[in-house]
Amino acid sequence: PVVLGVESSCDETGFGIVSDGVLLGQGLASSARQHAEFGGVVPEIAARAHLDAAVPTLQIALADAGVELGDITHVAATSGPGLATAVHVGLAAAKSIAWALDVPLYGVHHLAGHAAADTLEHGPLPDESIVLIVSGGHTSILHVRDLVRDPIVHLGDTLDDAAGEAFDKVARLLGLGYPGGPVVSKAAAGGDPRAFTFPRALMRGGDAPYMFSFSGLKTAVARTVETIERDGAAVPIADIAASFEQAVVDVLVAKALKAVREKDLQTLVIVGGVAANARLRTSAQEACDRAGIELRIPPISLCTDNGAMIAAVGDLLVRAGAEPSGLAIPADPSAVLHGAQLPLPAAL
Ligand code: ATP
Ligand code: MG
Ligand code: FE
Repeated sequence: PVVLGVESSCDETGFGIVSDGVLLGQGLASSARQHAEFGGVVPEIAARAHLDAAVPTLQIALADAGVELGDITHVAATSGPGLATAVHVGLAAAKSIAWALDVPLYGVHHLAGHAAADTLEHGPLPDESIVLIVSGGHTSILHVRDLVRDPIVHLGDTLDDAAGEAFDKVARLLGLGYPGGPVVSKAAAGGDPRAFTFPRALMRGGDAPYMFSFSGLKTAVARTVETIERDGAAVPIADIAASFEQAVVDVLVAKALKAVREKDLQTLVIVGGVAANARLRTSAQEACDRAGIELRIPPISLCTDNGAMIAAVGDLLVRAGAEPSGLAIPADPSAVLHGAQLPLPAAL
């Protein structure tokens, strides 16, 4: 198969082309800069940007892959979850392409796409693994068996802010700009991660071992900044940024490793924009080395939203003999994760 993947759930317009597990090429556009002045993604702006970017980005993907539109044998698209207006644009584009080419269309759950991203870099996932997805919109721990044949077990999620969202909010209150991840990390580079003890919510989390909460952490940072400013002292940005980053990383690594150990597995996969974070990468690598666990993190270009990861799921579905989802599939902005395909086939 030569599978075209389409992604438009948030602020990235992505097209990727995958054949037999190999990424042939991709095109990516982002409206992140257009949202900067609002400190977060504005759905209507994202949707308009997808509409503008769709055809040129598809052309880039085809040129990058060295294939013609007519070479595409199957189309896969994110049909949820995501911003409703944004998902609609990519899904409508995917339906048009599938109809025009008279090829099957598969609806893909966005989080299954993230989980599949690493297969394009490091090959097929093992029989079972834990996947930690950390991005601007998600903080999820998944128990993945065969990505497209078996149900995906969603072990945990955030009760409030996502990890990347916490970076974005802390960046805003430290006056560092948007998106927050890169600027907070940069500010943290020279700081002392032990200078402030910020809360590690649900760290023990008895009945919620895999749930996260980051809104209290953001509030604690805000209180600290207020107190220092009230005293008329200079705010130690580097120390606060480093201590905040350490608190996020400690919780992410502890819970992800707990899941791997408790399910008695050997592999942890980390994806999503926050996987760009150097402190997270180092800390996860050290913890995995100590525990004898294999850590897989794809390059950043495959960690953030992209079309290649959706094509990767489509390619797996085709090769597994899955029934196409059909041209009538609805966008499902709040799709629950039970399996890679949307709507969920009866067999799962
Ligand atoms: P979705 O949640 O659907 O994947 P998104 O666009 O919010 O969509 P990504 O594009 O995967 O998510 O990632 C963006 C997020 O990653 C932002 O919240 C950003 O602050 C965070 N991020 C990027 N680089 C870093 C970094 N070095 N450290 C921490 N966070 C980072
Ligand atoms: Mg993004
Ligand atoms: Fe995403």
